[in-house]
Amino acid sequence: PREAAAWSVLCPSPSSLLSPGADAPQPETTELLVRRRTHLAGAQKNYYAAPPQIERGWREHLFDVEGRAYLDMVNNVTILGHGHPRLAAAISAQWLRLNTNSRFHYAAIAEFSERLAALAPDGLDAVFLVNSGSEANDLAIRLAQAHSGARNMLCLLEAYHGWSAASEAVSTSIADNPLALTTRPDWVHAAVSPNTYRGAFRGPDTAASYLATVKPMLETIDAGGQGLAGFICESVYGNAGGIPLPEGYLKEIYAEVRARGGLCIADEVQVGYGRLGHYFWGFEQQGVVPDIITIAKGMGNGHPLGAVITRREIARSLEKEGPFFSSTGGSPVSCVAGMTVLDIMAEEKLQENARTVGDHLKARLAALIDRHPIAGAVHGMGLYLGLEFVRDRTTLEPATEETAAICDRLLELGIIMQPTGDHQNVLKIKPPLCLSIESADFFADMLEKVLQEGW
Ligand code: PLP
Repeated sequence: PREAAAWSVLCPSPSSLLSPGADAPQPETTELLVRRRTHLAGAQKNYYAAPPQIERGWREHLFDVEGRAYLDMVNNVTILGHGHPRLAAAISAQWLRLNTNSRFHYAAIAEFSERLAALAPDGLDAVFLVNSGSEANDLAIRLAQAHSGARNMLCLLEAYHGWSAASEAVSTSIADNPLALTTRPDWVHAAVSPNTYRGAFRGPDTAASYLATVKPMLETIDAGGQGLAGFICESVYGNAGGIPLPEGYLKEIYAEVRARGGLCIADEVQVGYGRLGHYFWGFEQQGVVPDIITIAKGMGNGHPLGAVITRREIARSLEKEGPFFSSTGGSPVSCVAGMTVLDIMAEEKLQENARTVGDHLKARLAALIDRHPIAGAVHGMGLYLGLEFVRDRTTLEPATEETAAICDRLLELGIIMQPTGDHQNVLKIKPPLCLSIESADFFADMLEKVLQEGW
């Protein structure tokens, strides 16, 4: 049975929300699923086999067609929260006034790129505006290859960077890209993932051990004589559930890559933009400055928007290849959406909220480890946390089926949560950054309830 009563104190009743058109009749869920499966390509995945049909959202809550509320703990796209009226007003006002191909000249594109450049470390002040994280990573790889004149890319195993051609080639996570192990192109070189919890070299000397596996790979690239274009990774190990990279790891790899003329790309699509709470950018945690930053997801709060931020001379290397343009990347509406997201983040102190609520939630999840043997570890920081379930704390055998069952039970209790990672045994916790302490407690309480009841 659903704990609907617990929810009523936390979120407004859906009928009190001001979503235009919200009262339009909705198609029946099962019938809609049949239509979806008939006409939407099968590879376009849904989170659930039998998903709730959601029809509106408010802050960190979603509501289905029957008015049931769900706490959205996985939505790394909607960072401000759902249904933000000010963002909706800004987008619709700009839409009514002007939206067009980004090859035209208008104020918003200059203003937004200037603001993104100001957020990046000194020297990274050239911005490309695109529509998604995959597109941003494809462009970053293309920039690295054009700038270096080389083709080879170094990346990490168990990573996800997107589904378009180049970003998919460096996406090595078998959970997200099942063909990754068999179809990797010859220019992609994937190093052992520095997963300090369950990787090959757990223990105090992890950075050195993992780096020792990268060196022979670099020597092989050197011996091939084709040079190294660059290195791409998330500065917090995202796909495995937000595991911080070993201390000093990126400094050493960046030095090796740069010594060979390659560029260092930080994929901040998921970890950047304040989600870590303690840092705006993930790479700050490692004390490095990348040559190229890629961002997307939250920067438009769901409006399609992505960007590549780099140094001017790197950006120029594409000029040889002809003019670059994306018809809708950086459109007037996209730029206004992006700037309004930044304004709201600052005014509502969302990075600070991610820090405070994230620290609180991490402490609550860490307490589960003492009480429940299946809770192996809590990783991450801010509102980018990973709770890893294991069958045995010594062998770390992943509790894959149990994690799926826990997520199913959480859905019944009104929480949207999904397994992640190559073993599908990690709860990757990435809610909107406006998550309240009450909602964080509700999540921790319900999780404890599920672990007590069994699954
Ligand atoms: N990079 C990372 C780290 C991601 O998590 C994702 C999406 O999940 C992407 C890139 C691709 O972004 P998009 O889905 O916007 O193409």
